[in-house]
Amino acid sequence: MNGTRTTERAAAPPVPADIPGTPSGAVSGWRLVVTGISARARAARDLDGLWLTPGTRAALPDGALVLAVDVHDAPRRWTITALRVTPGGLEEAGRWQRRSPLGPREVTALRALLAGDAAGHTVRVLAEPNPAPAVCRSCGEALPAGQGLAHRTPAGPVTTCRPCPVPPFGVNPDAGRCADCSGWVTAGEGLLAPAPGAPGRYRPVHHNCPDQPLPGPPLRAATWCTECRTTIAAGTGYWDRGPHHAPGHCARPDDGLPRWSLRVPARESTDWAPGQVRRIRHTPTAGEPALPEGLPGGRILADTGYMTVLAHVLDTRTTSGGTFALVRAATWMEAVPLLAAEFDQALATRPDGGTFLARQVVERICGDTGWVAEITGHDPRHGLTRKFLRPQTDYDQADARGHRGVLDAWTLRPRRVYEVSSPLGPPAKDWRAVRARLGRRARVTAEHRAFVRVTAEGDIVEITEEEVQAWLAVALEWMS
Ligand SMILES: [Zn+2]
Ligand SMILES: [Zn+2]
Ligand SMILES: [Zn+2]
Repeated sequence: MNGTRTTERAAAPPVPADIPGTPSGAVSGWRLVVTGISARARAARDLDGLWLTPGTRAALPDGALVLAVDVHDAPRRWTITALRVTPGGLEEAGRWQRRSPLGPREVTALRALLAGDAAGHTVRVLAEPNPAPAVCRSCGEALPAGQGLAHRTPAGPVTTCRPCPVPPFGVNPDAGRCADCSGWVTAGEGLLAPAPGAPGRYRPVHHNCPDQPLPGPPLRAATWCTECRTTIAAGTGYWDRGPHHAPGHCARPDDGLPRWSLRVPARESTDWAPGQVRRIRHTPTAGEPALPEGLPGGRILADTGYMTVLAHVLDTRTTSGGTFALVRAATWMEAVPLLAAEFDQALATRPDGGTFLARQVVERICGDTGWVAEITGHDPRHGLTRKFLRPQTDYDQADARGHRGVLDAWTLRPRRVYEVSSPLGPPAKDWRAVRARLGRRARVTAEHRAFVRVTAEGDIVEITEEEVQAWLAVALEWMS
């Protein structure tokens, strides 16, 4: 129980409090938020604390101890007041009248009033007495110096009389949510207003709150809604951890088909256009549900939700981060032509008794070597799993330095698909300098990459990535 109360107190917001001004008749006075009283303290100079100007408005922790001392003349006497900060403001906790300054008796009384966590108390000055004559920003009343409060705000001091609240003022330097309607206010387009429940903090506020405020910064370009996955027209939506339609403007499509967006692979052979049907690979991001099973052309590739499916392109858009496509699962009607083409490709690569081996030869150029990998399946990160094969190397035709004529050779089998990388000469003109700078293994030629397979006649032919995918889809069944 006690522990709970301590926690609540630590989390309690600071209380705005008016530190008493110097009363009429006093010749001087001082105010101190007491944070510590040592065991040997006997006088005012032995107190630890934070000094405040009389008449200041400050945010103080609940339970803080404020000491106010005023000196009067003729006869000379001291008025000592101990004040405690409560959620409702300052409360008098002790008062002494003396013919001498604060002494050991008052110090002992103050020590008894000091909160256990006083050493951690901090003070935030919200407003100070206005140093020069001013006019109340709220009610227009003329205020002689010291009669009003000059509030510390991000736009400089704003003076009001003591009872008047700070009205909206200035220009909001930062964007944020409106203190009145919670709608988004762009930097410089509104005013500043005191933040509710946070003394000394200011928030943007609209000049006139709109009927339908946007909850986040407006979107300038057209994009796709995170919630309904349909297009948001330029200048109509807002951003909140993703693009959204303006409240109440989501148009959830009634086809019931899952929609998502994806980055168009950089090495894609043809442009993506709305209306096309593509075979894509999809891994749900954290928190995103996996696509339902049984979609046209859908195949689950790993138990992480990684799958391949036929997608109908709805829209594309290119940003500095790449080209993106908004897609939905294809319907069976849309999927039929592609499924038929995949089936034809699968038939063409079907094992048909061909047993010829083929020899893939790649010449090294200035030390740059090629590689051959067998494609064995899908990999969620790299798209395809590759098994790199070891070459046989032939130096018979090599020139003296081995810059040309070194041949690496691999045996390729039918009923497999491979990826081949070969260096593409000639090397860069300054290739020796490149190696000298970046090391012996630095690449100095371009690279040619291709997917290949061996025909029944023993020829090596290039195939597309789509053919690789089609082959992988059926290969496991044929090979088992
Ligand atoms: Zn006023
Ligand atoms: Zn507003
Ligand atoms: Zn929407």
